Amino acid sequence: MKAALIDLKTERNRRIPNPDQIIIAGAGIAGLTLALALSAKGFHVQIFEKSAALAEIGAGLQLSPNATRLLGRLGAMEQLQYASVEPQAVCLQDGTSGGELLRLPIGEQATERWGAPYIVCHRADLQNTLLTLARSRPNIAIQLQSTVTQRKADSQGMLVRVQYHDRIEEHRGALLVGADGVWSNLRTAVSDADRARYTGMVAWRSSLGVDQLPESFKTLLPQGVNVVAWTGSNAHLIAYPIRSGQMINFVAVAPDHEAGNRWPVPVDPESPSQNFIREFASWHVGLRDVMRAGRPWTPWRLFEMKKCRFLTEERVVLIGDAAHAMTPYAAQGAAMAIEDACALAGALSADRAAWPSALARFSRARTKRISAVVRRGALNHLAYHAKGPVAVARNILLRNRPVEKFIEGFDWLYGFDAEERKEQV
Ligand SMILES: Cc1cc2nc3c(=O)[nH]c(=O)nc-3n(C[C@H](O)[C@H](O)[C@H](O)COP(=O)(O)OP(=O)(O)OC[C@H]3O[C@@H](n4cnc5c(N)ncnc54)[C@H](O)[C@@H]3O)c2cc1C
Repeated sequence: MKAALIDLKTERNRRIPNPDQIIIAGAGIAGLTLALALSAKGFHVQIFEKSAALAEIGAGLQLSPNATRLLGRLGAMEQLQYASVEPQAVCLQDGTSGGELLRLPIGEQATERWGAPYIVCHRADLQNTLLTLARSRPNIAIQLQSTVTQRKADSQGMLVRVQYHDRIEEHRGALLVGADGVWSNLRTAVSDADRARYTGMVAWRSSLGVDQLPESFKTLLPQGVNVVAWTGSNAHLIAYPIRSGQMINFVAVAPDHEAGNRWPVPVDPESPSQNFIREFASWHVGLRDVMRAGRPWTPWRLFEMKKCRFLTEERVVLIGDAAHAMTPYAAQGAAMAIEDACALAGALSADRAAWPSALARFSRARTKRISAVVRRGALNHLAYHAKGPVAVARNILLRNRPVEKFIEGFDWLYGFDAEERKEQV
């Protein structure tokens, strides 16, 4: 059922809200996943998205089993499997020598151990899959070019003001979910201190067709189809296939050298003001070659929120980056958005008569989980960017510790089922 359109002057506050009507601000990964999860539980959903089109150029995503298990239940994996790739391993390599430090099998072993596959895909392919599914559901209405600007809880529910390019409307629902990303209006309206903070690091993104890869780089690629991460002093580079394996997606993370003002415009990495390649000057020639071949690179400044916050005010819930934008060192931001969405739909449907207590339980459980994931990201950051004796010790550990021990260390993360109603990490 579509949301009732309320004429501002004549009908304000006259409609009784449908208790099953949920309004979502933002049709990113969090918002679309939530719409599908709610729709499957019989809710009616209205999503407002401020952009005119949903697409992100040149960006890949790793989706671990804790996310793909949920996407599978929503029916998204069937379509996504045509565009995604299931890598055989995550390989950690040394940026200077190019040599292998650790190879973690994540192909069939992931499905056997964690019950769902580890995949890599283009972000647009995931978003399009979710969008196509959402459009096929009669109880989901999606409006593009519509920005949620204000909201107010009253005795009849939640009244939301939406700015279209040519008009303003008000809509009613029982609950408003802010899935509006790292720059969430709904979050910052509560407190400026909640704003995302700049980490001083930039993720440079690019992609190349497999036939464009320099020969010197190809010699560094381990056998098979893999996610490969090269570590170095204060920087790392990740490469993995996207678009059914036709393209390789690259993410190079390094300290900011004036990327700030130009973000997010693609730039030449060797231009004097954007010379991020200098961070990789001592790296293996094959890695420097691929950085030159990959130009232009698009810089993304990395932001994070110090405080995870799901509940802000009456009848408003935040999920995804709006609740807890995190650095990408554990490759879990989108996975957490998907987990949040499914956990929230579960909480709302399990206890329709007592949403406040269901939401409080949801917030407690998710905050615990997110804190653990943020800690893992911080650990990965230290390990990836280590230098001097710390890097030497890291390399010894990675080369000598049994692989099974590393795999076991992912059980809590990848084996997690966000739809299980347990308050545990
Ligand atoms: C370099 C990098 C690499 C990453 N790699 C990975 C990875 O490998 N795996 C992984 O799991 N995660 C990864 N992430 C994290 C992941 O990209 C994010 O966590 C995820 O996209 C967040 O999704 P979201 O839906 O919460 O927010 P977004 O994708 O930002 O969506 C928010 C949406 O809300 C809309 N919006 C905003 N305000 C309003 C409003 N007022 N009204 C209506 N609409 C509004 C926006 O237009 C947008 O479409 C990476 C991040 C970076 C920066």
